[in-house]
Amino acid sequence: MILDGRIAIITGASRGIGRAITLTLAKKGAAVVVNYASNAGAAEETAQQVRDNGGRALVFKADIAKPAEAAALVKAAVDEFGGVDILVNNAGVTRDNFILRMKDEDWDQVLGVNLKGAFNCTKAAARVMVKNHSGRIINISSVVALTGNTSQANYCAAKAGLIGLTRALAKELGPRSITVNAVAPGFITTEMTLGLPEELKEKMLSQIPLKKFGEPDEVAELVAFLASDAARYISGQTIAVDGGMSCA
Ligand code: NAP
Repeated sequence: MILDGRIAIITGASRGIGRAITLTLAKKGAAVVVNYASNAGAAEETAQQVRDNGGRALVFKADIAKPAEAAALVKAAVDEFGGVDILVNNAGVTRDNFILRMKDEDWDQVLGVNLKGAFNCTKAAARVMVKNHSGRIINISSVVALTGNTSQANYCAAKAGLIGLTRALAKELGPRSITVNAVAPGFITTEMTLGLPEELKEKMLSQIPLKKFGEPDEVAELVAFLASDAARYISGQTIAVDGGMSCA
């Protein structure tokens, strides 16, 4: 298995894309740390699915927007499994509104989880990876970082920030054999997108050349590839998984 013996932390692994990434990395041999913020039952379900498939999983609650909790998450991986080889900065939230109506707290929360959270986890995990002279960091951005989107100034700024973070760290950590890449999903069917108005979904569908929404597994397969040895010479890249949406 391509990730045999590796240790992976996946933030926001209780559901959606994070759960699919966790199950995929575990199926390919990695021991996984299942992070969540509030939904303990869902995180436990993810971990149980890993164990049912013969894998190793640790569930760890941490609000990644808080530096001390992000550091504790990384420490838990080291204490339980002995290190960190793969960090997937997946946890994300949206608080959509027109800029004139966007509250300061909506801006702060979206930037705090999506961007500062990735910084917090990366800073803690990079300490371990730098010592080992190896590591894989994968940031889950979004296609809207590339295209922009109405009512998502906070989310687009955070996700575009992740692409800048990816490029900066690819240069900074590359000499220690650590690769840093970003994945930019398009419209993927999860709880984050299920509640969107039908009218908006129809409009988005019309902009997707493959004429279907994506599934979490389709993002997870790319993440597993980027985490594997086969991707050892790929760093600083942003790869869209969007049915062709960003080139439409
Ligand atoms: P989701 O179903 O809403 O799940 C979000 C996950 O993030 C949950 O596990 C949640 O944990 C966790 N989370 C939220 N705040 C957190 C915090 N402060 N600390 C730790 N974990 C936190 O989202 P999704 O659709 O799977 O999206 C996953 C990632 O892909 C996000 O970064 C999202 O922006 C990005 N993305 C999604 C789409 C899409 O179409 N779905 C498209 C592009 C990019 P709890 O369950 O405990 O709340």
